[in-house]
Amino acid sequence: MQSVTYFLPGEVRLTRAQIPVPGDGEVLLKVLLAGMCTTDRHIVQGHFTVPSPRILGHELAGVVQATGPGVSPDWTGKTCGVMPARFCGTCSMCRQGQPQLCQNFECLGNTHDGGFAGYTIVRVEQLVPLDGLPLLDAVWLEPLACVLQALEQLGGRDTPDPVLVSGAGVLGRLMVQVLAAWGKQVAVVDPNPDRVDAAQAMGAQAGWVVPRTGPVSDIASALQAWAGGSIAALIDTTGQPVSIERLLDWAGPRARVLLFGVSSPSAHITISPQKLFTRELTILASSGMTPASFTAAYTLLCSCQLDLSALSAPPVSLEELPDYLLGKRSPNGLKVIVSPDSAGQDQPHD
Ligand SMILES: [Zn+2]
Ligand SMILES: [Zn+2]
Repeated sequence: MQSVTYFLPGEVRLTRAQIPVPGDGEVLLKVLLAGMCTTDRHIVQGHFTVPSPRILGHELAGVVQATGPGVSPDWTGKTCGVMPARFCGTCSMCRQGQPQLCQNFECLGNTHDGGFAGYTIVRVEQLVPLDGLPLLDAVWLEPLACVLQALEQLGGRDTPDPVLVSGAGVLGRLMVQVLAAWGKQVAVVDPNPDRVDAAQAMGAQAGWVVPRTGPVSDIASALQAWAGGSIAALIDTTGQPVSIERLLDWAGPRARVLLFGVSSPSAHITISPQKLFTRELTILASSGMTPASFTAAYTLLCSCQLDLSALSAPPVSLEELPDYLLGKRSPNGLKVIVSPDSAGQDQPHD
């Protein structure tokens, strides 16, 4: 089968691999769609270490092709989404109810081969039968679970508003969609006018184009006027220090500032302790998902309140994927979705 394999920072390419055989408690999943995540780009850039060689891809949906020992053959032929992460349930963080920080965390496309391939191996308990949910939506289960886990830090549906989202990229706009579906007053800032417009089309009541660097003093008063006072919650989806520092400047008294974007390891921010102190700001961070947020994502997708097709680029082939992972091609602000070319795939033996 074809697969896209990560070797070293900057080295990721199309490879051929044997179709794997499912072991105890596992199934062989024929991958129908797999999404490319910012995390995949960071792995390729060397910002996250994963054991290599590794087939990347943790946002996937497919059809069960074969079952291993101990798995009911009734699974065969079922179209499923996949919860890519597994948590040990016994480490101190799992026992504290914070499995996103599990010390024995396992994940497809990270500790195990993932979905950028014709076929992949998944444990049966990670499968989520789609039961009518569109296949494309299944690709969004994991990113949406991460968004919901992040918003949980702010209070979930009780997140105080107005909310300002910095960065109207794919996950910024997904964040906007969720907040709008919850009836929150939300605005965005982004350097790209098209993305600001797109976020407003997806439920943001206001948006501002901000320069990538440099001062933006003129925005502060406009933000305050929009908020009708002070901004209660601010979310960085960019991981860029300048964005985080601006949010800390714009935060109102008692505001919560949530770090959701992935920063490079060399990034640093400068914080004025006096600003934190006098406004009693809270800085929060969220870096993953949990079984609970995954279930919440499934439920929210079933409610049909989100427009995921507006965030998804037309599917590309596995051959085209390395160029996107290496940043040589760009999906124009949409999520890259791979459709492994089944015509070019070998069939597994029974
Ligand atoms: Zn992801
Ligand atoms: Zn654990």
